[in-house]
Amino acid sequence: MIEIWLVAIKIYNSFSGKREDFVPVKSGEARLYVCGVTAYDHSHIGHARAAIVFDVISRYLRAAGYNVVYVRNFTDVDDKIINKAIAEGKSWKEIAETYIESFHADMVSLGVLPPTHEPKATEHIDDMIALIEELIKKGYAYQLNGSVYFSVAKDRGYGELSGRTTDDMIAGARVDVDERKKDPLDFALWKESKPGEPSWESPFGKGRPGWHIECSAMSIKYLGSPFDIHGGGKDLIFPHHENERAQSECATGHTFVNYWVHNGFVTMAREKMSKSLGNILLIKEFLKEYHPEVLRLFFLSAHYRNPVDYTDKGIENIDSALKRLYATLERVSEESGSSNTLPKGNDEINDIEARFYAAMDDDFNTALALSAVFDLATLINRLMDEGSDSALPFIVRGRDLLLSLANFLGLLTDDTAAFMRYESHRHLARVGLDEAQVEGAIRDRAEARRTKDFKKADEIRSRLLEKGITLLDSPQGTRWRVKK
Ligand SMILES: [Zn+2]
Repeated sequence: MIEIWLVAIKIYNSFSGKREDFVPVKSGEARLYVCGVTAYDHSHIGHARAAIVFDVISRYLRAAGYNVVYVRNFTDVDDKIINKAIAEGKSWKEIAETYIESFHADMVSLGVLPPTHEPKATEHIDDMIALIEELIKKGYAYQLNGSVYFSVAKDRGYGELSGRTTDDMIAGARVDVDERKKDPLDFALWKESKPGEPSWESPFGKGRPGWHIECSAMSIKYLGSPFDIHGGGKDLIFPHHENERAQSECATGHTFVNYWVHNGFVTMAREKMSKSLGNILLIKEFLKEYHPEVLRLFFLSAHYRNPVDYTDKGIENIDSALKRLYATLERVSEESGSSNTLPKGNDEINDIEARFYAAMDDDFNTALALSAVFDLATLINRLMDEGSDSALPFIVRGRDLLLSLANFLGLLTDDTAAFMRYESHRHLARVGLDEAQVEGAIRDRAEARRTKDFKKADEIRSRLLEKGITLLDSPQGTRWRVKK
């Protein structure tokens, strides 16, 4: 049964710099837009962080009783896509399709639920043209040959989201190729196409949209304006979100977004991930080594606004922590069977549950919420160590709560036995063994024991133990498992 609690959730708004009560535009609905990927390459773990953070935010809002409308776009036409297409002798469409498919596969692997809508920029050119025409009509944009620029000086609110002054922004603005712009801060809404580039007919001439306009057009189309939450990585605050806000508010004449939510950066051993440093970790590469929930747990162990630093040691610790949670579930199912009794009144369990919700309600503090989840696992194990029959209902209730709280975060979604099998095989691969070799050793040991060659039997057992494999003898035969 899903409980509905619609309590006040506090969200940190990058615009105000404060935690604010979440009050949606439409009662009972939460509408959010998150900037998606530019489809020109496989996604890396930085993309995974944004996807996981907003997956958890939308899962939690839904669980809290809101009808969530979640939009995440694909930028499917852009300089990077065009350049890759030229380099690989393919069409820009083929490149975009390849990497959209790759992104979808990664999201399925990571347990990121699909958004309500996943619009592509090139399917919304008409909406963008309409918005640009409105901006020209209201005097916020000007045409220059076949291009259209937004006139930053006309927008008195420009810079309020990123908190930058005009001087900062000019210093930070990339040197733009088009010297004809009225002001160096002006940005392109529509770009005149060069020969051979993808282009669309428009009242301003054949061309393609600038990057920022797509998110304004698609978010307003699917969510209306204002809508509740606009998300993305902190790197998008300037210029992307500043520009989205400027063009949207100038076109509509009212607030674009009520809560701006930004997740922190991911660094690799304290370095920014970059192609030139060669330290980009693709999601697909990560998943060759670890269970997908390891990455999720790793990101959720930090507050979403804080930076996280990826290190091998850090990931190994998280890997062990995830195993500890699954091992708790396994232990409960092995030792206590199942029970349908749900006793109330175990204060410790109630307290942990309350701590979890309080943490999540306070700006989705998954780091604190996870500490409650791990305390619950510790409590379950302690009750099992004590071995009292009267504790059994509490153990079962604790297990059920552990599962439901973890599921809010998209964790412990794997079948416990399947997870344990996966971990065993991973362990075998790491120590250079396969399952057939272990089964063979078990047969050799049984044979040695049958012929009373106990020295040999012990040697086989020790050899396996050195590789972290323990043998469990029972009247039904010998099973193996990875040493905990
Ligand atoms: Zn965007």
